[in-house]
Amino acid sequence: MRSCFLLLLPACAAQGQKLIAPPCVVERDGILVRAEYVEEAERLVGDFAELDRRVRDLLGVQDPPTPEVWLLEVELEGSTTGTCIWVPPAVCLEKGQHENRQAVVHELAHHYLRRWPARLPAVVDEGFADLLGGMARDQLGEVRDRYAYVLRRTRVTSIHHVLELSSQEFREISDPRGTVAIRSVGFALADRIGVEGLRQMCQRAKALDLEQVPEEWLEPTWAEVASRSFQQKEIPPGLEVVTLL
Ligand SMILES: [Zn+2]
Repeated sequence: MRSCFLLLLPACAAQGQKLIAPPCVVERDGILVRAEYVEEAERLVGDFAELDRRVRDLLGVQDPPTPEVWLLEVELEGSTTGTCIWVPPAVCLEKGQHENRQAVVHELAHHYLRRWPARLPAVVDEGFADLLGGMARDQLGEVRDRYAYVLRRTRVTSIHHVLELSSQEFREISDPRGTVAIRSVGFALADRIGVEGLRQMCQRAKALDLEQVPEEWLEPTWAEVASRSFQQKEIPPGLEVVTLL
């Protein structure tokens, strides 16, 4: 059986959801955690501080300050487990996901990457956050294997359409299998280029006065990745962008 994922999808994102800061605050080792119950924040603050330190080291972050971590007692709208908000800068984890270390690192990565000199295409940004999640938790092999498994079963009919997805369009993909298929493409690109290569791309884009790294800069890497994965081939662009085989 095969399923197709089209890009013309209804809105379902957590975007409009109003998030209220939990009342109890615990601050330690440069990180501030808010939770409904102080014990919950106390229990996790040390681990979050360690994960934050690792993400900052991996990205070479001096500034900006670490965001707050909010342990929510509500579920987020859509299929997301966590989200990253601008004001105040906070990483929010939904109910039931407070111990999801991959989600913590993923959202911390978004927080710092949003402040890089230029943006990456949304799909690569997602893949990069997942890559950092694997690296910071010393679980990169496991994350790689999982995405390689998905990627082998994913046919990308137009890398151009995947790379031009906005973050809103990415969030609005209603089928979780479509999301993970597209994420596997972003992960493969980020993994292949690496932290330093992606940083250099963003610096180069900024030097050219570009807000975002152009898709064309990533297409040669995709060609390399695709040629190594036996299922991948480029076929002419159409509405069908990703097919899970
Ligand atoms: Zn994300």
